[in-house]
Amino acid sequence: MSGESGDWLFSLSGVLTSIRLSQPPKRLFDLVQGREFMGINWESFGYNNSHMPELPEVETVRRGLQKLIVNKTVESVEFDWPKSFPNAQTDVDAFLIGANIIGVRRRAKVLMIDLSTKYSLVIHLKMTGQLVYRGRQSFAAGHPSDSMINKLPDKSTRVVFGLSDDDVLYFNDQRKFGWVKLLPTSEISNMPFMQKVGPEPLLADFTADVFIARVRRRGGSAIKAVILDQSVLAGVGNIYADESLWGALIHPATKVVDIDDDQLALLRDEIVFVMDLSIKKGGSTDKNYVDAEGKRGSYLKFARVFRREGQACPRCQTIIQKIKVAGRGTHFCPTCQKVVV
Ligand SMILES: [Zn+2]
Repeated sequence: MSGESGDWLFSLSGVLTSIRLSQPPKRLFDLVQGREFMGINWESFGYNNSHMPELPEVETVRRGLQKLIVNKTVESVEFDWPKSFPNAQTDVDAFLIGANIIGVRRRAKVLMIDLSTKYSLVIHLKMTGQLVYRGRQSFAAGHPSDSMINKLPDKSTRVVFGLSDDDVLYFNDQRKFGWVKLLPTSEISNMPFMQKVGPEPLLADFTADVFIARVRRRGGSAIKAVILDQSVLAGVGNIYADESLWGALIHPATKVVDIDDDQLALLRDEIVFVMDLSIKKGGSTDKNYVDAEGKRGSYLKFARVFRREGQACPRCQTIIQKIKVAGRGTHFCPTCQKVVV
């Protein structure tokens, strides 16, 4: 079932793209690690081993699975590491085995596979989690590693779901921080994480007013730290913070009190723009992929400052700098994004 012909769709990261290959490469991970692969220098996009799945990446997983597993029946489950699948066998037997998959949802970086039994599989990929589907098509998304193309199960495989039509869904997780929990669907919203997490930036109710009110609660903090705070809004990781602050012409270390409402409204628009673009570039399984000839996708334009230190700002040609803000490597243009003094 693995390592053979067919379409191989890889979503390599929230900022990147999917790749469609007629044959899988031998070692995906080596190829992308600091090298040119299919005509692209992946590292220049901040793509490396430490890349954690971000919201657009998780949304990519959701969209991929929604197309592939809905209406399938869960026929079996196996796991090798109890913390990856911390569920009572009686629940598994009663609410998972034999259940029909009715939908795949996402909240922040948490995925939910809803079942006909009114239970859901709640999945957090954490640092190194990935989901790989093997059936008539292959689909892999999440943390990039060779397991996306390996014969599975492999050393990183924690949970294996056998689905109807002999399809298989693998939850792979090298470092074992991720998990798959079987919970009553109605209880998900009571999970502490779900209670705390801020609004979804891609939903219509994430208006400028909502954003400004939430951000202003932390007036004395650096704006970058505030937008990275998942209780302020969901899913802004380091890449999207740097890209959106560059778009809004705000220095990442600026205190919220020193930013006026118009600028914050612009920042909200930029956050929506970069995340939306990222999903479009990274999330589509039927377009925008890099083809086997190495044709570059338009996503190359996407990263404008992130991991581009030493290169020219695409807006003003000043050299992009890298500093630390909120404990995170931060990329900005010293001309476009002036510190407020
Ligand atoms: Zn600039």
